[in-house]
Amino acid sequence: MNLLNLFGKKTFPRGIHPEGFKEETHDHQARRLPFPAQIILPLSQNIGKPAIPIVHMGQHVRRGELIARADGFMSVPLHASVSGTIKKIDLVPSARGDKEQAIIIQTSLSSTQTHHHGDYQDFEKMSPQALVQAVQDTGMVGLGGASFPTHVKMKIPDDCTIDTIIINGCECEPFLTTDHRIMLEQISFMLRGIRIAMKAVDAPRAIIGVEDNKLNVLEAIRPHLPADDSITIEAVVTKYPQGAEKMLVYSLLGKEIPSGKLPSSIGVAIFNVATLAAIGELLPQRQGLIERIITITGDNLNKPGNYMVPLGTPLSHILKHAEFTGNEAELILGGPMMGMPASFLDTPVKKGTGAVLVLDKRATKRDDVLPCIKCSQCLQVCPINLNPSELGMLATKRKYDVMEEQYHLNDCFECGCCSYVCPSNIPLVQHFRIAKTLNRERHRMEVA
Ligand code: SF4
Ligand code: SF4
Repeated sequence: MNLLNLFGKKTFPRGIHPEGFKEETHDHQARRLPFPAQIILPLSQNIGKPAIPIVHMGQHVRRGELIARADGFMSVPLHASVSGTIKKIDLVPSARGDKEQAIIIQTSLSSTQTHHHGDYQDFEKMSPQALVQAVQDTGMVGLGGASFPTHVKMKIPDDCTIDTIIINGCECEPFLTTDHRIMLEQISFMLRGIRIAMKAVDAPRAIIGVEDNKLNVLEAIRPHLPADDSITIEAVVTKYPQGAEKMLVYSLLGKEIPSGKLPSSIGVAIFNVATLAAIGELLPQRQGLIERIITITGDNLNKPGNYMVPLGTPLSHILKHAEFTGNEAELILGGPMMGMPASFLDTPVKKGTGAVLVLDKRATKRDDVLPCIKCSQCLQVCPINLNPSELGMLATKRKYDVMEEQYHLNDCFECGCCSYVCPSNIPLVQHFRIAKTLNRERHRMEVA
């Protein structure tokens, strides 16, 4: 039993309490933005292999039509998010600054943009294997930002049995309110998606975990839950990173996912609430993922809110319609803790983009980095009990192998709590990201 739960508070040890900044958008019902003139759809929108294009320049495509097929099991297909003409298949700058292959569609502005879908399929009559295939066919990845192919998560190893599905509705990052709106506005899709996931992984029960700063969600969902308690909803303490898999499992079940193991090793499968709501809507119609709700929020916006946008919508289009009035801004795809800065206004919304955060450049100016004063604040907040101070020291000495072999670098899931509290402004999490990348590269060279 989780000791913290004994006292009625479902939570995990350590973590931080950043200011939420959610009031600006959490009451905004999701609205549709006008369609952009051009859509940019990178072929790589998931962890794993990029999709393979099956269209050619000049071809007319309908919204919802398959335009790139999955390249094996660790890959998902891509569907046209607008009706229009394939303008080109070319390299475009990614949010990270490197180049990636993308399909660019010139939107047919005269089109009604009704979407293409297949014949109805009844998930109740489908086998787990058929459901995993049907989920892959939707092109679904984790919409909470992880972008891990959802069908791969649903393919449970033969030696594991799932007793509980956890549905992550925490949305613990500041500013984000997408999942909050989905849990209020798409309850029937979400519950259908949960039943599909339960059937696919053969789980007898599901728990929706929601932070206690969204109590209206619990009130809205409870009347729709089945009487047999196979699906329940529970409040967890509002604390960052409550939505991380290890933290949420601990908070709700008092169980720990062992280092280096998957949640299935302890009988659990975890899905984001937006992902299951989208599956609940798309799978019965054999429809592909072509749009998503994102939170647009931050500084100097006349119209912040939650918006339904076609995948591939460029940031410039979003800023125009949210009426950005500033001169300069730092743009972040996702939340301030784990989001990714975007350097180009052409950067498109991808499947894993849950928010566009606009921060005034003056407010984001970094203070000078000072030496570590051994205050141990980073140790006190690390939710998985690492030693960020020591890891940071090793990173500056480029001892990346020691970080991995002796200080469990690979357990770090880059939540940023340590950087957040560091009084010396040491960019600890950035050090850890670089160290992991270089270690991966080293291992790749060793194998080659
Ligand atoms: S970024 Fe890594 S080391 Fe830092 S607090 Fe999070 S898990 Fe711990
Ligand atoms: S919080 Fe910063 S200054 Fe304090 S021990 Fe950690 S790295 Fe050093």
